[in-house]
Amino acid sequence: LFAQECQFLLGVADLSALPPGDLPEVAFCGRSNVGKSSLVNALTGRRTLARTSNTPGRTQQINLFALGPAGAPRLRLADLPGHGFARAPKTMVTAWTRLVNAYLRGRAPLRRVLLLVDARHGLKSVDREVMTMLDQAAVNYQVVLTKADKVGDKALGDMRARVTGQLADHVAAYPEVLVTSAETGAGMPELRAALAELAAP
Ligand code: GDP
Repeated sequence: LFAQECQFLLGVADLSALPPGDLPEVAFCGRSNVGKSSLVNALTGRRTLARTSNTPGRTQQINLFALGPAGAPRLRLADLPGHGFARAPKTMVTAWTRLVNAYLRGRAPLRRVLLLVDARHGLKSVDREVMTMLDQAAVNYQVVLTKADKVGDKALGDMRARVTGQLADHVAAYPEVLVTSAETGAGMPELRAALAELAAP
């Protein structure tokens, strides 16, 4: 699945522009600066795919990528705008929230949401809000800890255990927490395997 090119499809600012739901889709979401662009780049092995940016408001659209052989893609990745960025103007936050929530609640081919969480910080209130919303919408999601290289082994194990415990109350949460680093490539094989299982045959 990852041996072939990952192709950028399009960016959409409203749901009516989304392509038909003819392929399984996996969405990446998380707080701004969580390392989402870096992870998507590391995953697909392309440096220019998702532009890393710390600028608030830079990624206001849902960016879609196709994975698999050209002409016969097997999975779409949806890179969602980062949520909970305090410095962005309120009107902008509302617009993203509306777009992201509408996508997450209503996108039929969505197979799983990967909720990226900084391994140093754990779940924040905005993450819990997204989780509760996904529980209510019965959309499967999986927590992916990012920037694992910034945390020592002991603290990383503790954080994983803590987050795993916190998922117990969430009905739509996938129980296994993945631990990744875009910097070292740690956890990427596991992430790729998880995605490959969700891809079309
Ligand atoms: P996004 O806003 O969620 O797309 O986050 P970015 O991918 O732009 O990353 C935010 C910052 O964290 C950048 O300075 C990255 O270089 C850094 N970063 C991202 N992933 C990692 C990682 O795995 N390890 C380390 N050490 N830094 C990372």
